[in-house]
This record gives sequence, C-alpha cells and structure tokens, in this order.
Amino acid sequence: MEKLGYVPTRRAEDADIVVLNTCVVRQSAEDRVIGRLSSLKPLKNKRPEAVIAVMGCFVDDMSALQKRFPYVDAFFKPSDVKGLSEFIQSYQSALRQAQDTALRFTFHVSRLTPVSCYVPVIEGCDRFCTYCIVRLRRGQERSRPVDEIVEEVRCLVERGAREVTLLGQNVDAYGHDLPGQPDLADLLTAVHGIENLWRIRFLTSHPADMEERIIDAVASLPKVCEHIEIPVQSGDDAVLKRMVRGYTVDQYRRLVAKIRGRIPGVGLATDVIVGFPGETEEQFMNTYKLLEETRFDVVHVAAYSPRPGTAASRLPDDVPREEKERRRRIIEELQEDIAGQINRQLLGETVEVLVEEKRKGKWKGRTRTHKLVFFQDDGDWQGKLAQVKITWAGPWSMQGELA
Ligand code: SAM
Ligand code: SF4
Repeated sequence: MEKLGYVPTRRAEDADIVVLNTCVVRQSAEDRVIGRLSSLKPLKNKRPEAVIAVMGCFVDDMSALQKRFPYVDAFFKPSDVKGLSEFIQSYQSALRQAQDTALRFTFHVSRLTPVSCYVPVIEGCDRFCTYCIVRLRRGQERSRPVDEIVEEVRCLVERGAREVTLLGQNVDAYGHDLPGQPDLADLLTAVHGIENLWRIRFLTSHPADMEERIIDAVASLPKVCEHIEIPVQSGDDAVLKRMVRGYTVDQYRRLVAKIRGRIPGVGLATDVIVGFPGETEEQFMNTYKLLEETRFDVVHVAAYSPRPGTAASRLPDDVPREEKERRRRIIEELQEDIAGQINRQLLGETVEVLVEEKRKGKWKGRTRTHKLVFFQDDGDWQGKLAQVKITWAGPWSMQGELA
C-alpha cells in the first residue's frame, strides 16, 4: 500500500481505502468481522468513492459474499496481496481519469514502521487438526524463499524496525517445500545476520514438528529471543487423538522439558481448547493438571467452536455451551494465578525491554521472554533498549523504572 502511495490513517472513517483482514478461526471471530463490516456501511454511504476491501479467511464463496455485502468493493482470498495491489492500481487509474488528481497519490515513505514487525514466512497448513478451519481456507503450505524474507526484514530494519516475528500457522514446517529444503533453523541463521536487527521471534510452533535443530538455533543465536509458543490444545491423550494432533501428552511433556533444559529462562506460551466434542470432566481435568504442572507464562484458552466443513463439526457435541464456558473460566482463573506468581518473581530484577511506543504517558515494551513492561520517563525511548527495574507485577503486565 505504501509503494502505491498510501499512508495509514488512525481511523477507518478517514481512509480512502479500508482493507479488513479477517480471521474466522472461531464463530466469535467471524461474528466480529460481520459486526465490523456493518459498521463500515455508513462510511460507504457518506463517501461512495472510499474503497472497502475484505481479505483473509472470511473470504470463501465470493459470489455469496458479494450478494450479502453489496457495499464491499472487492473480496480477496487469504494472502492474495497481488490481487489487492492490482485492484488498487486499476482503481487509482480510474480515479485519475475521472478526477485528474494524479498528485493525490504522490509517493510518501511512511515513518510509521513499527519497532516490532510481523513477517509471514510460510502460508497455509498441511496438518489435519479436526477442529480447524485454517487449512480449508488457507490451503497447503507454501514457504517464502529465504532470500526474499531476508530482503524484506532488511527493508523493515532500514525503516526503523528492531524486532521481527516470523509467522506461520506451523512455522516449524518452514522450508520443506523449497529447493534444497532449508529449515527454520537456517532461516533464523540467515535473518540473524542482518545488522541493526536486535531481536527475532517466531510463531506458531507445532509440538510434532519442533526439531532439535530449531531448539538449538534458539539456544545458540543471541538475537533469537527465549520465547516459544507451542500449543498443546489438550492435556488428554484421547482428546488429542480425536483432534488428530499427532503427539501424546507425554511426548509434549518431554518436549517442554527439553526446551527448558536447553533454553534457560525461556518464556513459554500455549493454546488450549476446552469442551471439544466428547470431552469428559476427567479429560478436562487432565488439561487443568497439565497446565498446573507445566506453569506456562501465557495460556490462550478457547471454548471449542464448531467450524463449517471441519471433521469435528460432524462429531456429536455433548458438551453444552455453558459447560464449555465454565471450563474456559476455570482455566483462565488458574492461569491468572500462575502468571501472577511467575511475574512476581521478577520484582526487584532488572530486565531488558525493547520499547515499542508511548501509551497513555508511559513507555511500553517487551522483555526478551515477551512480557509486557511499562515505565515512565521523559526521554525518547521509542525503538531503544531500556534496562528496567520491575516494581510491580501483575498476571498480564509489569511496571518498572529505569535502572
Ligand atoms: N497452528 C496453530 C496450532 O497448531 O495450534 C494454531 C492455529 S489456530 C489459527 C489458533 C488457535 O485457535 C488454536 O491454537 C486453537 O487453540 C484455536 N482454535 C482453532 N480452531 C478452533 C475451534 N474450532 N474452536 C476453538 N478454538 C479453536
Ligand atoms: Fe489448524 Fe494449526 Fe492444526 Fe494447522 S496445525 S490444522 S493451523 S490447528
């Protein structure tokens, strides 16, 4: 968009082009997309020349969507950036002809590149988790070549980025479809060589694909942060089997022990689904016990949501919605307690924070282990590394002062 001459606006209502990038991994996410789309309708009524485009996993049957949302100008499949850019270019030339306002699109390099950027490195997914709509909407795995990724990261760093997070639904599968089969460890090594880039992260890992080489790369490359997101989804073997996750609870436990053994102080995050079809109270409690015993830094918990076209949506679901909610709340309460305890261990310690922005008068940044830290200071800390002494710690964030 920037190459085509656009700059970001704060509010959608002020934009010439609004691109809604969508996720439908759960029904609640899909409902939010529909809500947001409805809220954009008045914008189109007020300024018909404004463009509304929708891309991402919401975009499936385009003609049905066009009928349902006639005020949307264009729909694009997930990752179809080329389609979006071609559409905008033809829109620009039509607009120029109509208004003769070529100057309106003078090239403008934005200074709004975030300190911490996301870079997709592998699209799609080849796994068959029975609850998951991602592979139906995003297709098979496609890795981007190492050189292309390095070039993109170099560009971001030139414009002020200091940290990148390499993204993939299963980032551990990176490279197996490329000539020469470079893996994630090779990619991390290549990105590590970029000057003025200080921190590298990657997500999401899959427990069955997290090879030794990847753990070794995190342990040995100083810029790669001690932070791993490795969803377990359930702490019960029978449920894992019905989810077709491809590992047992014991294998997962051993993987966590290996990671913690090799990467001291690593920040570990996981995802959990509760109330999967057929999940008994005992099976749910097995998840609870695993989380209690493993003590993750972060747990993203979701109540199972049936998604159209998935294998699990055809299973009889005997866990009522209120029960799924109850289980979700129980896990949230447990995790709030654990995360609070873990974070309080940092009280009085000094941590290195990469400062991302100022929010409500306070500088906001993250530790290498991905913990959110706020501190107050009159200096300009944006994009700098600060040594911060922790003075207050809650489950979701910490406060401190410059050390
Ligand atoms: N690829 C990652 C993995 O293997 O776990 C995660 C991908 S998924 C887009 C992100 C999270 O959404 C999952 O970890 C899972 O916890 C949650 N999720 C996916 N499908 C779901 C469903 N049908 N109901 C509830 N949560 C779901
Ligand atoms: Fe979905 Fe992740 Fe399983 Fe792929 S690995 S099917 S993205 S949950």
